[in-house]
Amino acid sequence: MNHPRLLAMAALMLAACSSNASLGGGGYYPGDAQLADGAVGDVTQGSDTAADTAPDTTKPDVTADTTVPPSELTVPGCPDGDYTETAADPKGDLSAAQAGYSAADAIPAMLKALEARYPFGKTLVLEGDKVALGGGKTCTQAFFNAAKASTLAGALGQASVVVHECGHMLGWGTYGSHKYWIAKDLVATCQGMSYQGTDASFARSLIHDDAFAAAWPGCASFGMQGCDGYAPIYLDGDPKDGKFDSGDQGYDMVLEEVMQYVNSLAVDYAFADQSSYSTSAEDGLLTFLWYMQRYLHMARLDYPSVYKSLSESSCWRRTTLQLWGRGWFYLQRSASNPKLNLKGKFLRGLVQDPALLDEIARLRQLEGCVGG
Ligand SMILES: [Zn+2]
Repeated sequence: MNHPRLLAMAALMLAACSSNASLGGGGYYPGDAQLADGAVGDVTQGSDTAADTAPDTTKPDVTADTTVPPSELTVPGCPDGDYTETAADPKGDLSAAQAGYSAADAIPAMLKALEARYPFGKTLVLEGDKVALGGGKTCTQAFFNAAKASTLAGALGQASVVVHECGHMLGWGTYGSHKYWIAKDLVATCQGMSYQGTDASFARSLIHDDAFAAAWPGCASFGMQGCDGYAPIYLDGDPKDGKFDSGDQGYDMVLEEVMQYVNSLAVDYAFADQSSYSTSAEDGLLTFLWYMQRYLHMARLDYPSVYKSLSESSCWRRTTLQLWGRGWFYLQRSASNPKLNLKGKFLRGLVQDPALLDEIARLRQLEGCVGG
């Protein structure tokens, strides 16, 4: 059932992400978006009933990959340090995807390749593709460019964007909540923290000019160099100007982007051998982990009622920590491949600002897993 809020949210989410198309391949920063916001309109998923199903987390995949040590930025015994899964497999057999490849069947071939190397990505594409965008387009129709898929490598170069965008299609819970499909067997539906309503959080654009921004100031517009090129896409606008901007969205959509940028990285990690270019695979995730930390910091100091709701909710707290953990699960793996970042070392430094790491530590304390 359509609801005005869900429609607005859908449009905002994809308006923000329409520029992601430039992030997955070729190493470009935002700026050459090929997809018009006008592609987004009616959404056929969602309901305006307010059933509270949070938290409904289940145990993550138990067939853990232990070949790569956990990040020192996570803490065992806590939801981040305990996070594990069967990792994407960069050596998975692509022969089934390659056999008889033709551009006309590029998406089925991409799905076979995802099955071989990142099966959760295949699930997100198949499920996300059941949700119609404006004009009846699905996420693969809107975000996959068949003209660039004359080879399997050309198709797989688009896989991270497709998985990311199709994943977004699954984010709408019931009215007033947000569903996070974090990993294959890990789902949470958390209440509140949207950009409007009685239990709203504050606009993410407000972190644009915080004290941490000086380390990497937001670009004033697309295509600029030497500045944070994600900021004009995700931290734009004025929440008080009466019109929707991507940056008006609240904490729920900060976490949603973290979640999908983990998927983007997992896909690019899985298909790294298919491209000779460096990509911004790590950069998008590290930037959003940095935004998440900055948002938590601002919430705690300037918006105490938002911070109280967020930090005292086991659903928001655990989902935040699990996504921090899943992010570092893949950043630990991608670190060995210099093709998977453009500014990875610099961005890893930003995220490791002690004042920002402290925000994650505070959530662990509240979780009672350390120092509690
Ligand atoms: Zn996105």
